[in-house]
Amino acid sequence: MAELNANIPEGELTEKWTKLRSSMPLVNPANKRSIEIIVVGSGLAGASAAATLAEMGYKVKCFCFQDSPRRAHSIAAQGGINAAKNYQNDGDSTYRLFYDTIKGGDYRAREANVHRLAEVSANIIDQCVAQGVPLAREYGGLLDNRSFGGTQVQRTFYAAGQTGQQLLLGAYSALERQVGMGKVEMFTRHEMLEVVVVDGKARGIIARNLLTGELERHSGHAVLLCTGGYGNVFYLSTNAMGSNVTAAWKAHKKGAFFGNPCYTQIHPTCIPVSGDHQSKLTLMSESLRNDGRIWVPKKKDDTRKASEIPEDERDYYLERRYPAFGNLVPRDVASRAAKERCDAGYGVGKSKLAVYLDFKANTERYGRIEASVQNIHNPDKETCMRLGREVIKEKYGNLFDMYAQITGEDPYELPMRIYPAVHYTMGGLWVDYNLMTTVPGLYSLGEANFSDHGANRLGASALMQGLADGYFVIPYTIGAYLSKELATKPIPQDHPAFIEAEANARGIIDKFFAIKGTKTVDYFHKKLGKIMWEKCGMARNAKGLTEAIAEIQQLRKDFWSDVRVPGEANEFNPELEKAGRVADFIELGELMCIDALNRNESCGGHFREEYQTEEGEAMRDDENYAYVAAWEFKEGVKFELHKEELKFENIKVAQRSYK
Ligand SMILES: Cc1cc2nc3c(=O)[nH]c(=O)nc-3n(C[C@H](O)[C@H](O)[C@H](O)COP(=O)(O)OP(=O)(O)OC[C@H]3O[C@@H](n4cnc5c(N)ncnc54)[C@H](O)[C@@H]3O)c2cc1C
Repeated sequence: MAELNANIPEGELTEKWTKLRSSMPLVNPANKRSIEIIVVGSGLAGASAAATLAEMGYKVKCFCFQDSPRRAHSIAAQGGINAAKNYQNDGDSTYRLFYDTIKGGDYRAREANVHRLAEVSANIIDQCVAQGVPLAREYGGLLDNRSFGGTQVQRTFYAAGQTGQQLLLGAYSALERQVGMGKVEMFTRHEMLEVVVVDGKARGIIARNLLTGELERHSGHAVLLCTGGYGNVFYLSTNAMGSNVTAAWKAHKKGAFFGNPCYTQIHPTCIPVSGDHQSKLTLMSESLRNDGRIWVPKKKDDTRKASEIPEDERDYYLERRYPAFGNLVPRDVASRAAKERCDAGYGVGKSKLAVYLDFKANTERYGRIEASVQNIHNPDKETCMRLGREVIKEKYGNLFDMYAQITGEDPYELPMRIYPAVHYTMGGLWVDYNLMTTVPGLYSLGEANFSDHGANRLGASALMQGLADGYFVIPYTIGAYLSKELATKPIPQDHPAFIEAEANARGIIDKFFAIKGTKTVDYFHKKLGKIMWEKCGMARNAKGLTEAIAEIQQLRKDFWSDVRVPGEANEFNPELEKAGRVADFIELGELMCIDALNRNESCGGHFREEYQTEEGEAMRDDENYAYVAAWEFKEGVKFELHKEELKFENIKVAQRSYK
């Protein structure tokens, strides 16, 4: 059985990373040229890693299932990326970013990793600016910042509401440069279906060419999984439709432990569900909470229009409950508060499952400043609103357009209606400090790993982590492993491990076609999503989770006896792709419920109704649950728990408060 050793370097917290990277074994340039690295995924984590490793001299093969690396889900990221640059002179520092992240994650993340993340955060911005990423600037040309939840400083760098797109274009350009020089071989429209483990080490993958259906063997000295998050296990989420867990799950079945699978982030500001027809939900970026105030009517079941409800009959419940952070409390806190108000009968809109996000007050405030800049004295309200609207448009224009297109309402005139939705998964493949999984030579980066965010991720920290992993961490840590692999010759692809892995992948595909059932893949996916949302979603309890586990086990049986996959294996077949992904989601869903049931406490995004304070806040149990739950896969879809104890030596563990 693999050892669970986080490999955290010795020494002072602030020096661990510097010392380690300065003393790590290196691979010399001539040797790098004969070492092959497989990078699965070309989102921010994968593209940054592949480009950097190739630039360092390694031979890289990079895979993605989309038709271009530019279509990775990272492109959807809207609001921004954090970095402790202290450009606003508002008291930010590496330590404060570290502290905010540990506290934001409800004291369930590793101190050493989070401190390293805070340390390299500033380098990421320099790197991206050097690449030409057009981060927003102030009038004078300096980089601009805004606030995100769970912090009291402005450390979020952004590019309008398209930060992910601009960052990805930067990483993609770096990647394509290496492709152009022949140092990265890019395989688009390829889906990894198996990890190949030779003598206990990851040595390759089996990938399906999605256009021809052909199964291909690819070998390498190390394999990096940068394959994103698994929020789509809930069917409805803000993730791209294609986001899935297959790569991570196949690795899990080959010995990689899965860390904290139950930690799911429910984002408070999404466009509410409008009906059964939907297959996707849309995020309204957290950046909007810089200027949008969240409220519900003070009166239950109030049917008046928002504009007819006077100021003193509105409940700005986040500002009321959390005066120190107000509308910028972390996502888990804001989501629960919205649910609490709606459950209590104060929700708005037809479904009553929505709250208002209102920009009026800040539009007027901006207008007043703008009028002053333009030397307009004593401007009337209309002038202020007109001028303020331009400022709001400049900051959030594309998000407002998106909202208007989807809902048919003009958010410049009416408050947005929003409700929490599944957004991000803090859980993922367990990795040590070097980003290596429990399978030697198999690494995981970005959202695919169990990450640095503990039980709740602060906004604008995913892009930071993915790029930290790819640009600044793996380029160092992988060298320590590869320096011991210099004698390893190119891995022969006719090794029995390749033959077996390919046969496995083919066996699953054949099984799908043999079932010839009556139900579509989506039918099962929707059913799974409903169970997960209702019983392992924003609020969980032992009874619901126990039921969910039984229901998912039954669903798995039904799936494998009644799913219908049309078409052929040897052709472009999106239904077949979905079938494989949903089969893995079903197994993952069960593990998420098992993990949630095991964790008899509430922390961050994991809210067990039995464990809450009198005020309805999450109640941790540090004595019994200050550990990372790392699950090992066992034959017959069984799971064994391993624990990585979390030690807090630099931060005093306390009840999280944003009041
Ligand atoms: C709507 C939205 C807005 C967001 N906004 C922000 C924000 O403002 N700030 C922030 O910090 N975070 C934000 N996030 C979170 C952030 O975007 C993601 O966590 C991050 O981009 C994930 O990057 P990644 O590289 O890990 O994965 P991804 O970008 O998801 O890339 C995964 C890659 O893996 C490939 N892949 C997956 N499986 C396979 C397989 N089996 N075989 C081959 N290839 C495979 C895919 O093709 C893709 O290239 C947002 C998320 C959403 C949903």
